[in-house]
Amino acid sequence: AKRFIYEKRFNGFPKEGDLKVLEEDLPTIKDGEFLAEAVYLSVDPYMRPYAARASLGSTCIGQQVAKIIESKNADYPVGKHIISNFGWRSHTVSNGKSETPVALPISILPDFQGLPLSLALGVLGMPGNTAYFGFLELCQPKSGETVVVSGAAGAVGSHVGQIAKIKGLKVIGIAGSDDKIKWLKEELGFDEVINYKTQNVAEVLPKLAPKGVDCYFDNVGGEISTIVLNNMNLYGRVSVCGSISAYNEINPKASTVQPAIVGKQLKIEGFVVRRWIDRWQEGIEQNLKWIQEGKLKYKETVTKGFDNTFKAFVDMLKGANTGKAIVEV
Ligand code: NDP
Repeated sequence: AKRFIYEKRFNGFPKEGDLKVLEEDLPTIKDGEFLAEAVYLSVDPYMRPYAARASLGSTCIGQQVAKIIESKNADYPVGKHIISNFGWRSHTVSNGKSETPVALPISILPDFQGLPLSLALGVLGMPGNTAYFGFLELCQPKSGETVVVSGAAGAVGSHVGQIAKIKGLKVIGIAGSDDKIKWLKEELGFDEVINYKTQNVAEVLPKLAPKGVDCYFDNVGGEISTIVLNNMNLYGRVSVCGSISAYNEINPKASTVQPAIVGKQLKIEGFVVRRWIDRWQEGIEQNLKWIQEGKLKYKETVTKGFDNTFKAFVDMLKGANTGKAIVEV
């Protein structure tokens, strides 16, 4: 079995050598345990800030889709697939209980009705529910309003924009490449998209949102968010989902968002998706239904091979992914 461990603290962008792959023999399973083999691993932005708190030598965290290949636990029979928080490991011996209380529970995957099981790490999993609850609950979007979504071509952002279209909003996305812009406009139906790497967001946004911005779903923080807040209408709603622009900063820059928050009397709310753990299944079922109705599209950026997990992670932080970044073991 192989697993990645935190070897050194990240400093800026993660580097080769910050993580290490260990090879080890696993113990034979005891009564109540099962052995699972990873099929897909997830690489997500939160792993970057999390690593600062993890103890060195511990297994790199993350969700995976795994197949049960041996079992002495009737609740986890051989052949079933599970979603779990086993981290970046190829094989795991488990008793079915999560190792930490905050982790999402280990569960047998439901039938995705022919859709790939990897979607349990994306549109039909944690990122999907982040979009569903984080946008609908916190932004309280109304038909005819204008929403801006930053990180728009990623797993969460591409999903939020499509929910906003379903709800009748004008959707303006902000993303980092022309290919991403094309996908968002031509395939996902975003009304307007800004390439923040080649366009001046502060100049373009007011032209694309002449009636102002009512909702902002923020995946990136930093300068982009300051600009969006300054273009908001009175009593706008902001769902603060993440701040990836700062995750690799050694000294995160000072922000200047406060005057806009005060002047426009904005309601800004941050969230951790676990808040809706009691409604988790509702999110998955609605997202699945939207996919089946052709209203919600998804994309995955797949890296092959367990040993390439670190590369997939850094590529995602640098924006190489469109849609959800995953590793096929
Ligand atoms: P994505 O699929 O969006 O991947 C990350 C993307 O971020 C990259 O593709 C890149 O796209 C963009 N990015 C990287 N650096 C910058 C930068 N400096 N400025 C602007 N964009 C940048 O990841 P997810 O959809 O999984 O996550 C999106 C956000 O949601 C993250 O901030 C994450 O931490 C947060 N999150 C929060 C949760 C919660 O419970 N609150 C749960 C899940 C996710 P580009 O080419 O456009 O730059």
